[in-house]
Amino acid sequence: MKKHNFYAGPSILPEYTIEQTAKAVVDFAGTGISLMSISHRSKEFVAVMDEAQQLFKELLNIPEGYTVLFLGGGASTQFAMVPYNLLNKKAAYLNTGAWSKKAIKEAKLFGETVVVASSEDKNFAYIPKDYTIPADADYFHITTNNTIYGTEIKTDMDSPVPLVADMSSDIFSRPVDVSKYALIYGGAQKNLAPAGVTFVIVKNDILGHVERAIPTMLNYNTHIEKESMFNTPPVLPVFSALQTLKWLKEKGGVEAMHKINLAKAGRLYDEIDRNPFFKGTVLNKEDRSLMNVCFVMNDGHEDKEAAFLSDATEKGMVGIKGHRSVGGFRASTYNALPDESVDALIACMQEFEKNNS
Ligand SMILES: *Cc1c(COP(=O)(O)O)cnc(C)c1O
Repeated sequence: MKKHNFYAGPSILPEYTIEQTAKAVVDFAGTGISLMSISHRSKEFVAVMDEAQQLFKELLNIPEGYTVLFLGGGASTQFAMVPYNLLNKKAAYLNTGAWSKKAIKEAKLFGETVVVASSEDKNFAYIPKDYTIPADADYFHITTNNTIYGTEIKTDMDSPVPLVADMSSDIFSRPVDVSKYALIYGGAQKNLAPAGVTFVIVKNDILGHVERAIPTMLNYNTHIEKESMFNTPPVLPVFSALQTLKWLKEKGGVEAMHKINLAKAGRLYDEIDRNPFFKGTVLNKEDRSLMNVCFVMNDGHEDKEAAFLSDATEKGMVGIKGHRSVGGFRASTYNALPDESVDALIACMQEFEKNNS
C-alpha cells in the first residue's frame, strides 16, 4: 500500500532527491566510488558544495554581503552559536514554542536575555503581535515556524535591531526577504535534506563585534573563511540538499512552491473547519502554519482519537500523531508532500465522518 508521509522531521523529501542520493551512494559523479567514501576535498565534492551554496543564494535571492554555510550540530547548536557570536550585552527573543524556549535558555548563558512576548499562556496556540523590540538589544530572535504547535510568522518583519530567525521547518516554503534578516538558520531535515546538515545564512558585517573569545568551531568566521570546509562537512546531506534545490528550481522556485503550499494546506484546513469531528488547535487562522497542520477531535468527540488514528494508519497515513505537548494530530505538509497525500488524508476524515454520524 502507498504510504503518505506526514512526519514532522526528519520528513518527506522529493523522490528525485532520494533517487539521486541512492545512485551517488553507489557511484558518485562517475568516479566509481561511493559518495560516502570520497574525500570532501575531491574536486567532485567541492563542486557539489559550491553549487549548493550558489543555488541556495539564487533560490532565496540572497543579496551581496551574506554567506551561506553548511554545518553540523543541528539547529540546536545554533541556539548557542548565535549568542556566542552576537550577544554583547542584551538579546531579545520572541517565545513562540518549545524551540524558542530552548534558544532562550542558551542565550541566557551569554548575557541579559529579554523575552519581549510569549504565547505560552495559551500553550503557544497563537503568535504574539503586540510587543516592542528594545532598541538597545544586540539582536532579536524569532522562530518563524513552530513545528510542534503549527503556528507560523509568515511575513518578514521590520526590526530596529538585527533580526535572527530559526527557519528550520519553513525554509524554502515561501519567498523570504533575506535583506531584513541578519542571520537565518535551521536543521535541514524538515524541508531540504536528510538529518545531519544545518544551514546558516549570515550577513557578514554583523560578526566580529563581541568581546569574548569564541571556540574555533563555534565561530561563524571560521566557516566563512573556509567556505564550510574548515572541518569535514556532512558530505551526504549536502549532496542531498543540492538535489532538493535542483528539484525546487525545476518546480519554479519558492514563489511557485508558496502557491502550491497555500493551496495544499488550505484544503486541509478547510476540511478541518468543515468536518464536525475535528477542530484546529491554532487560535487565529492567520497564524496557521503552512507546513505543520495541527488538529484535534472536536468537542464531544475526544474519545474517538484512537479510532481515527487507527483508521488513518490502516489507510497508509504515517506520522500524523500530534506532538505530546499538543495531542491530537499533526499533518506536516512540507514542499515534497504530494497533493495526493493531502487528498488521501481528507478522504480519511470524510469517511470517518460518514461512519460515525
Ligand atoms: C526541528 C527543529 C529544531 C531542532 O533541530 P535539530 O537540527 O534537531 O537541532 C529547531 N527549531 C525548529 C523550529 C525545529 O523545527
